[in-house]
Amino acid sequence: MSLTPEKRQTLDAMINEKGYTDYKWIDPKKIIVAQWVRMKCMFGCSEYGRGGACPPNTPPVADCERFFNEYSDAVILHFEGTMDKPEERHSWSRKINAGLVKLEREVFLAGFERAFLLFMDSCCFCKECSGDRKICKEPRMARPAPEAMAVDVYSTVRRLDFPINVRTDYDQKMDRYAFLMVY
Ligand code: SF4
Repeated sequence: MSLTPEKRQTLDAMINEKGYTDYKWIDPKKIIVAQWVRMKCMFGCSEYGRGGACPPNTPPVADCERFFNEYSDAVILHFEGTMDKPEERHSWSRKINAGLVKLEREVFLAGFERAFLLFMDSCCFCKECSGDRKICKEPRMARPAPEAMAVDVYSTVRRLDFPINVRTDYDQKMDRYAFLMVY
């Protein structure tokens, strides 16, 4: 069963109050989970095995799919950024993710016990990541990114007419997406 219009309004007010306006609601059944995304993590990403909220610290793809199937309502939040230098990305993401995890907490405290946030970028709260969930330095704050949960972010956000493109250089505009699983 989906959220009532009144509950959605309550959540919209909470999201807006935090200053987020560029977001859309999605039926979680439309979130595309794919094995190829995990393969991209395993082969080609420097954070595989080095990020405490990245694979292989996240569940197998089949369990990720089950996780999304347990929800009836989710929000996708869009963030745009252009970096002068590649190393600026982590501080940009850290600040946004810290704000998002507070939003998740407020939604939870408002009675949405399933509230769970997926970061708009890999967790980069610490300069040196432990690389291991069991010895994470900020275990209450760290969350996986949608990609770490095997979400095909490109195809999913295009379903909502959000912009996203493969970038060919670091100084091009980034379109990053956080997912707030609500109910
Ligand atoms: S909180 Fe720190 S140690 Fe934990 S996953 Fe994030 S960067 Fe790694």
